[in-house]
Parts: sequence; C-alpha cells; structure tokens
Amino acid sequence: MNVEPVERPLVGFRRWGVRRAGLYSGIFVAGRFVPTPARTMIAPRVKPMPWPTSDDRVAVAKCWALRGHDAPFANCNCGLSAYYELPEEPDLPARDAVWGAIVAWGRIVECETGFRAQFARPIGLLDAYNPLDFARPLKRARDAAAAYAIPLLARDELVAYAGWHGELLTDD
Ligand SMILES: [Zn+2]
Repeated sequence: MNVEPVERPLVGFRRWGVRRAGLYSGIFVAGRFVPTPARTMIAPRVKPMPWPTSDDRVAVAKCWALRGHDAPFANCNCGLSAYYELPEEPDLPARDAVWGAIVAWGRIVECETGFRAQFARPIGLLDAYNPLDFARPLKRARDAAAAYAIPLLARDELVAYAGWHGELLTDD
C-alpha cells in the first residue's frame, strides 16, 4: 500500500473539530461539533481519534458502515472528505470548528462539490476569528497548527499555499 503522496496529489479544503489541539473528523449540529458519528454508532465506548500528528501526518480512510468495504466507496459517505474550493467566507458553525487544506491521494471518489479520499494529510489551517469561541476566538486553530507543525494562513494565502502542494479542482 502506497501511503506516500503521488507526484501531484489532489488538494481540497475541509472543516475539523479541534479538541486539545487535535483535528477530529465529524459533523456540526446546532452549533456543536460531534466527532465521528458513524463510528460512535457502532462503537459508543471507543474514544474518537484525532487525525495523526505523527511525522507524516497521514490519515487513512476507514468505513464504519455495518458491512464495511474499502473506503472511500461510491455509494457510501466514507472516506476523507474535502471540498474543491474554500468558500469566500468559510463558516465556523461551532466554537471548535476550524478550516484547513489537505492533500489527498490513493482511491478517490469525486462528487459535485468535493471528493472523498483514501489518504490525506493536512497541510495548512485557516487563521480565522471564531465569534462563537468567546474565550479563545483565535487560539484553537493556532494550537492545532502548532501540534501538526503546519502553517496558519489567511484565506487567500491558504488557497495559494494549497495550490503549490497539488492539484486544485473547481466545482464548475
Ligand atoms: Zn463506506
């Protein structure tokens, strides 16, 4: 299994929930971050795991559906998901939400506005003021960027930086 990026990996943008500087996959519901709901459903006592902070920072997709398959799978929602484009004004629907850029490779399922990938690595985070995070509106993204040893960048810089690392697709 080749877990190293291909020469020209895909680039995408996605949101995580930040907890103790760790980046977690999950969903945002009514102003709250819910980590890995599909996994929690089958293994409620298993603690959610952040994307790895190890040297290579490579996350590997896994499907938590009842009859699992190799992720990503076309007729499922598994895989490491990202949008092709970073919104003009990226929304932060919870106090622990953060946007960032990833490079992705391996098996890829392309969708209308983004893709789901087998392997991904975060390469930069968005330096944004989060008005929902009253106590630390700037701090969570900064802590996560430090933990993953990746830059914290303003929107346009993040898009440009991502473009140096791989292929940016558009959704039109
Ligand atoms: Zn699946």
